[in-house]
Amino acid sequence: MDVRTVDDVKAENGQHSALEDFDVVVVGGGPAGATAAEDLAKKGRRVMLLDRSDRIKPCGGAIPPRLIRDFNIPDSLLVAHATSARMVSPKGVEVDMPIDGGSVGMVDREVFDEWLRERATEAGAERVKGHFVAIERGADGVAEIVFKVKKGEADEELRRVRARMVIGADGARSKVAHQTLGEGDHPKCVFAYHEVVEAPQDGRGGYDGARCDIHYNGKLSPDFYAWVFPHGKTMSVGVGSANKGFSLRGAVKDLREASGFDGDATIRCEGAPIPLKPRKKWDNGKDVMLAGDAAGCVAPASGEGIYYAMLGGRCAADAVDATLETGDARELAKARKRYMKEHGRVFFILGIMQHFWYRSDKRRERFVSICKDPDVQRLTWDAYMNKRLVKANHAAHAKIFFKDLAHLVGLAPVSRGG
Ligand SMILES: Cc1cc2nc3c(=O)[nH]c(=O)nc-3n(C[C@H](O)[C@H](O)[C@H](O)COP(=O)(O)OP(=O)(O)OC[C@H]3O[C@@H](n4cnc5c(N)ncnc54)[C@H](O)[C@@H]3O)c2cc1C
Repeated sequence: MDVRTVDDVKAENGQHSALEDFDVVVVGGGPAGATAAEDLAKKGRRVMLLDRSDRIKPCGGAIPPRLIRDFNIPDSLLVAHATSARMVSPKGVEVDMPIDGGSVGMVDREVFDEWLRERATEAGAERVKGHFVAIERGADGVAEIVFKVKKGEADEELRRVRARMVIGADGARSKVAHQTLGEGDHPKCVFAYHEVVEAPQDGRGGYDGARCDIHYNGKLSPDFYAWVFPHGKTMSVGVGSANKGFSLRGAVKDLREASGFDGDATIRCEGAPIPLKPRKKWDNGKDVMLAGDAAGCVAPASGEGIYYAMLGGRCAADAVDATLETGDARELAKARKRYMKEHGRVFFILGIMQHFWYRSDKRRERFVSICKDPDVQRLTWDAYMNKRLVKANHAAHAKIFFKDLAHLVGLAPVSRGG
């Protein structure tokens, strides 16, 4: 297929602008933006990838095999392989959920994100380190991206480029979304905070470098969960909550103390919002499209966002490419449709789960108890690892549904032991 680049379009229209022109400017070089930039560059588009590249994204770094497969992530980027998860109830009941013949990959976002950005550059995207400021419009209505770049130690310079299309992949507090789609549809967020801590090498606190621990406990999080994720030499000890008055730092301190990790060296403390609801609109019907956290795409209940961001970046790239090709901006809306067709149901189910099970310690106790069920474990892992709902075994679904119901109405016994 012949791809008409921005230079071809300019030549046809006899346009000469003093500003540099791009087919697409991607704002934000996290998993969503780097994926979009790479895909578009591979399609022959002239792409600028703008990222501020001045901080490490706070993240537990757990990624499923489906992501590793679909986005060709080399094993060398995985700092640990988790082969099981341990669910811990408010009363301290521990339910182990081993993964049958697979593992969850753990990535270090400082290295992972940089690698993705470099891969996009190798594919042909032009990378710029700078802060996005605004989208303005020239006399012809074409988007002009205004951004700041550092000049020396203290100075900054404002720059401006033109773009036929813009992808906003600048995270949960997206300025691109704010400026183009307004605040009205601002997604509901959980705020997550974690401490990167040196991992005990002596198995203290029952620490296992191949296991993700998930704590469901109102004292650690009144409406989400707390975690200990292995990262090779380090671990991520974190917690999330949408409750603004709740002390996330205090909860992590408590979890570290309770686990015997309080004496281990703290390497970094950091937090960020996690949006838990896809925005209703991802595009402005003209030339701006959102992807990843900017579009609100993180799975409720689990807070998993890396896979969903990369898929969002890919859908955005395809839709933007189709718009450039056909000149029909209705192509943009297809990205959200395609995405929601594949994952909308899972987001909906996880939203209901979070609403029901993360409400009180009584319900959390029951939730952890349900996780003992081998059918629940199998379906949970299959859904997480492969990003699909197993349709084949209707009997198992029915069994789980009635068990859930029994637990909900309090007819099922709550386990007392581990
Ligand atoms: C504490 C915590 C733990 C998490 N744990 C997990 C986990 O274990 N597994 C999982 O799958 N998900 C996890 N998530 C969610 C996951 O991190 C996000 O969903 C994912 O990073 C979204 O990717 P993104 O590319 O959309 O946005 P981001 O990763 O936020 O990337 C946005 C990019 O935009 C850039 N940017 C922002 N503003 C500007 C600007 N003005 N100018 C230029 N550049 C800008 C930033 O530098 C950044 O590179 C966690 C989140 C948090 C907060």
